[in-house]
Order: sequence, then C-alpha cells, then structure tokens
Amino acid sequence: MNTIPVTNPRSGEVDYQAPAVSREEVAAAANRLRLAQPTWEALGPERRAKVLLDWKQAIQRHAADIAHALCLDTGRHLLAQIETASVQDWISWWAGRAPALLGNVRSGKSVMAPSVEYSHRLKPYPVIGIISPWNVPLILGLIDAVPALAAGCSVLLKPSEVTPRFAEPLRRAIEEVPELDRVIEIVTGGPETGQALIDHVDAVCFTGSVPTGRKVAVQAAENFIPAFLELGGKDPAIVMASANLEIAADAILRSGVGLTGQACQSLERIYVQESVFEDFVELLVAKASATNINWPDLHTGQIGPFIFPPQAAKVQQHIDEAVAEGAQVRCGGQVEEHGGWWCPATVLTDVTHEMKIMREETFGPVLPVMPFKSSDQAIKLANDSIFGLSGAVFAGSREEGEAIAERLTGGAISVNDAGLTAQVHDVEKNSFCLSGMGGSRMGDAGLLRFVRKRAILFQSGIPACLSAMDESLAARDRSGD
Ligand code: NAD
Repeated sequence: MNTIPVTNPRSGEVDYQAPAVSREEVAAAANRLRLAQPTWEALGPERRAKVLLDWKQAIQRHAADIAHALCLDTGRHLLAQIETASVQDWISWWAGRAPALLGNVRSGKSVMAPSVEYSHRLKPYPVIGIISPWNVPLILGLIDAVPALAAGCSVLLKPSEVTPRFAEPLRRAIEEVPELDRVIEIVTGGPETGQALIDHVDAVCFTGSVPTGRKVAVQAAENFIPAFLELGGKDPAIVMASANLEIAADAILRSGVGLTGQACQSLERIYVQESVFEDFVELLVAKASATNINWPDLHTGQIGPFIFPPQAAKVQQHIDEAVAEGAQVRCGGQVEEHGGWWCPATVLTDVTHEMKIMREETFGPVLPVMPFKSSDQAIKLANDSIFGLSGAVFAGSREEGEAIAERLTGGAISVNDAGLTAQVHDVEKNSFCLSGMGGSRMGDAGLLRFVRKRAILFQSGIPACLSAMDESLAARDRSGD
C-alpha cells in the first residue's frame, strides 16, 4: 500500500507513515458500510445510543494512546487531552438527545385535503462521508460522525493527511464495540482519497479551507448529494469604549492566540473605539508579551507549533507584507524555527483593510488592531469581509452589545466573550458567506440534517377520478350549461 509521510510539528522530522487508501479500497469500505447500515438503522435510537455509550467507554480505555497520537501530530499536550475528553462528552450528549429528537415524528390530517392522513418516517442517509482538517484532528473528525451515527447512518471518515495518527488508536476503540465496528470506517489519505469518498457516499460533511470546499461542493453537486461545508473565517471583534477592557483583552487574546490561532473561529481582526484604543493596545500587548511558546518544554507556555509547517511561511508573509505597508509590530512578529516552527503572540497596529492581514485568513497567533470612531464605522469594517463565520462584541451593557451583534454578518456573535461556539454545541448556528453552506452542525439540527422525511399518506375518502380533469366539464361550466 502507498503511504503518506507525516511530519512531527515539534521536530520538523517525518516520523510516521499513514496508509494512502486507494479509490478501490474507499469504494469497498463504502460498500461494506452501505450493507451494514440497515441493521444499524433497525436497532432504533435507544439501542444505538447504548452502543455509542459503549464506544465512549472504549475511547476512555484508549484515551492515553489517542491523546498521545494527537500530541505527536499537533505538538500540544493539554489540548490533546481536552480533545479526547470532549468527544466523550459529545457521545453522551447525542446518545441522550437522539431518542427524543428521532421520536418526535409528526402525524395528522392534511389541512389542504382533510381526507388525507399522514405520518412521517425519518430516513437516515445510508452512508455519510466526513472529510476533516488538521487543526483540531479528533474533534473535527468526530463532530459530525457522532450525530450521524446516532441518527442511524453509517460513517466513512477521512482525516487530514497532516494529522492522521489518531486513526490507529481510535480504530482499536471502535473494534471493541462490534455493532459500531460495522458502521464506521476510517480511511487515511490525501485529496485523492477525499475525492474517492465523495463518489461513494450519500452526503458529505467537509471541514476545511474555502478553495477545497469549493471543489468538494462541485463534486457533490455532480453526484447530486448534499454537501455540508464548514470553511474558513476572518472573525472580527469590536471593543466599545464602554467595555471592560481587561475582560475584552483576556478573551481576545485567548481566542486569537489559543491553538496558535489555528482555529476557524479565531479572532483575526480587532476594532477598538478610538477613545480607548491606546489603553486597550497597551493592555493587550502586556498580556500577549507575557505568553510563551511551548518550546523546548512541551509542558510549558500557551502557544504550540504550527501543525502544518508551510503555515509558518504564510503567517510570516502576512506580517511582513503588513509591516512593509506601514503596520507597526507592538510585540512578537517573528516566526522561530526550532526544528518545527513557532510564532510568539503578535500584536500589530497601523493596519488597514488593504492589507492581507485584515482580509485573508492568517491562521496564526496574530492580532491586528485598528481604531474606529462610531459603532456604524465599526460594523462597516467588521462586515467588510468575504467570510461570515462568527465574531465578538465587547460593550458596557448587554443592550449595546446585542444591538451591534445584530448588525454583524456571521452565524454566531459572542457578546462580552469570544468564540463561544467552541464551548456551546447545543445552540444552532449557520455559517454565512464563504464560511460555509448547509444546515447547522450545532444544536438539534446537527443530527436532524442526517435524516430525510418520508411522508406516508393515507386516503380515507374516495380518490379523485380522471373526470376531475376532463376539459369538456370545464368548458360546460364556462358556458353555464
Ligand atoms: P484543507 O481544505 O486543505 O483540507 C481539508 C481536508 O480536505 C483534508 O482532509 C484534505 O485531505 C481534504 N482534501 C483536499 N483536497 C480535496 C479534494 N479535492 N476533495 C476532497 N477532499 C480534499 O484544509 P486544512 O488546511 O486541513 O484546514 C484548515 C482550514 O479548515 C482553515 O481554512 C480553517 O478555517 C478551516 N476550518 C473550518 C472550521 C469550521 O468549522 N468552519 C473548523 C476548522 C477548520
């Protein structure tokens, strides 16, 4: 079998080879899943929930190995533990929620034709394909898989070729639960494996960049299957003069620099009201300067390496181009190589909307800060983007914050905090503009998008005869005979 070399982001060395699963093997896996799915669906939501909870226990038994694999692929220790714990929480959440959601099936009489009685059946898509990115490998591999399984679908998952190591220990946890083992398979590989997957599934969930999302959407459209796309962002934060600047600076730093800025909902543009601009920048720079990269000791600092090494050059280019165009580096600003690549927390001022750093997704721990005069101007600047994932507003009162939030383009706006969708999975939200397409992955819709409604329609009266469409009867009516 062909393999894909995997780089350790801390050492910069290739120290793992992942199988590059071929088109034929993807087709065979999809076929196995399709054959197994009717039995899984027939189990019903309660029994499936029980199987999922058994899987949660198995993941717990393999938690150390899964977290270790994630740590090797991402260069971060604590977040690897958090990822492994989070997926167990979701399994509990969906196992608890699915029976009620799937049991809530309507039946009744049609209002338009009262002699017709109906009842709905919820039919899961047989095989859901999942293509995931490298930035939060386990969470983004399973965020759609768990509700799809709870809904009665089978799942074919292709993790990013940059971070595929978790597949081996996760597979061992799956194998310990035979009923589940028949309905979820993991295929590692690159773009070709992803393309093959789209040709053999009934709906695809894709998390990744806009350019790849566009290709996935085109291929899905050609195959007439739904594509649920969760793509990039350039999330703005607005800080009003009335805000608690200390709280705003803490939340903005956490959201912009946490995960080394390698999160879709990282804050990447900060707009601060003119009267508090310098005070805010001073606070933010002090807090950012007090952070550290987690090198040489993995167990220190808050900022991990770039998981995907080419990302380091891209982030440095965004910073350097901004500086060449007049931006000031207030702290950080220089990517460091220690085998792998790190970037310290970086704050820039004197930025403009002509710069890449304010327009394109940077995906690094960089906070460009820009002043504004009025809330109207702040809203205009925040909405001047091709993306519409999420955003944040900091204000002195809930009313002021929510009035601004309401006018921002984006699917989730946090008020007096940032990136709350990373913590709040039970609240529905959509991705706007180029940040995505398709139903909410959060909240109840996150499961219900995996089932289609079949209506069973019963005629309790006499069916209409063809004479109801007889043109000569209509002509007689018109002539008044
Ligand atoms: P990417 O688009 O490069 O790759 C994502 C996945 O797509 C990988 O598994 C890759 O192998 C696969 N792929 C590549 N070409 C393909 C093709 N032609 N057909 C099918 N599959 C293909 O994204 P990435 O660099 O891994 O991830 C970073 C991006 O993900 C950022 O833009 C980030 O904002 C985005 N992201 C979005 C969310 C969200 O929820 N909106 C969450 C996390 C990350």
